[in-house]
Amino acid sequence: MPSSCRSSDRTHRLATIACLLKMRQLAGIGGSTSSQWPEQVYRRYSVDVHIPDWDPLLLANFDAAQYVGDIARGGAQSLLQYTNSRVGLCLWNAQVGPRHANMPQGRDFFGEVVGECRRSTRHEAGYQKRGFMNTPMDADREVQWERLLPVEFRAAQQALPVVYLPLGTVEWHGEHNALGLDALKAHQLCVLAARAGGGVVHPPLYGGMGGLDMPATVVVEGEHEWDNHLLRPWLEKLCGEFHRQGFSAIIMLTGHYGHNQQITVREVGARMTERLQIPVLGTPEYWLAQDAGYLGDHAGIGETSLLMHLHPDLVKIERIRTDPDYGRTDAIEKGASAELGRKYASLIVERLAKLARAMPGWDDPTREAFVRAERALISAQLKGWRTRDAWAAWRKTSSGEFTMYGAYLAAGEFERIERMASHLL
Ligand SMILES: [Zn+2]
Repeated sequence: MPSSCRSSDRTHRLATIACLLKMRQLAGIGGSTSSQWPEQVYRRYSVDVHIPDWDPLLLANFDAAQYVGDIARGGAQSLLQYTNSRVGLCLWNAQVGPRHANMPQGRDFFGEVVGECRRSTRHEAGYQKRGFMNTPMDADREVQWERLLPVEFRAAQQALPVVYLPLGTVEWHGEHNALGLDALKAHQLCVLAARAGGGVVHPPLYGGMGGLDMPATVVVEGEHEWDNHLLRPWLEKLCGEFHRQGFSAIIMLTGHYGHNQQITVREVGARMTERLQIPVLGTPEYWLAQDAGYLGDHAGIGETSLLMHLHPDLVKIERIRTDPDYGRTDAIEKGASAELGRKYASLIVERLAKLARAMPGWDDPTREAFVRAERALISAQLKGWRTRDAWAAWRKTSSGEFTMYGAYLAAGEFERIERMASHLL
């Protein structure tokens, strides 16, 4: 725990004043004896806690008695203890905001420190509660790589060394949706997940495999081509760069899902997990919410609802009536809603954030089980493509246990995914 004393902003000055007052209360110095304060308590110790929770060992064995005792034996007369920091995790029993994951229910690290200080007659305690702009408690905090200052990037990476890579393309999505739907959707889901759980979001990659033969659509590589000369090496290069930059886990989320796009992204994830020895997940976003009823579609009720929720200004639902294809019936116009999009997005974001918090801490057996599960899915997809048809391995994924991929993944139940995959064909 590095000790620091910062007083560069007004918030901090106010917080420091509050903390000094608190120290005086705890020290029994106040009222008629207040003038003795500066003379009596001059060895003041400030502990700036910047400890993340991506590893289950971090702070897990925190012992307040030993901690306060060590500081007291060092001669400190007062202690300024942080309740939270730039890392953003609450070290007390917070009702809102994320608690430090290694502080089990019933424990309150900050409360324990204050309790120990009060028990001691050798020194006093002060505390401060500071608010930073860049904490997971701030719903609007910046997580987009390209918009971060270096100091913010370093802080975000130190708090949680996870990077998101959203994938999509520009493709016709009916007369009612913006053309960049796939990448816009994936990007915003990643941004929300990073705000909720930590991590940095790389700019979205526009361009992939497949795309409709429609106006305003860029097809970088054919949907039904075995060969892949652009997407795979590009993703592998990016993963290598993320690793070189110090990230410990990578989540590639594709909002575009031609079948070979899905295979390529998942394959790169499994391969780069082994190549880099850090977890790399590559999945379409709808696989994380199939148990909520979102089965993935193209400009249908699901995708339109998601865009209505994530970017309401980019959907003009009444335009669908002019679309000879999507407007044939009123099913999408009646069925799509921002509320439905919020439901799907909430589940996807919750699972992404949970994964992001867990992945850097996966040990070797966990990572290997993850790769076996992902490879089992890829095997079914490749085999089905060769022996039957392109979508053969997807037929069962929309019903029964096959919708549970997202739940199993977030829970780390990789053996169940592996077993499930063996029944896909
Ligand atoms: Zn789409």
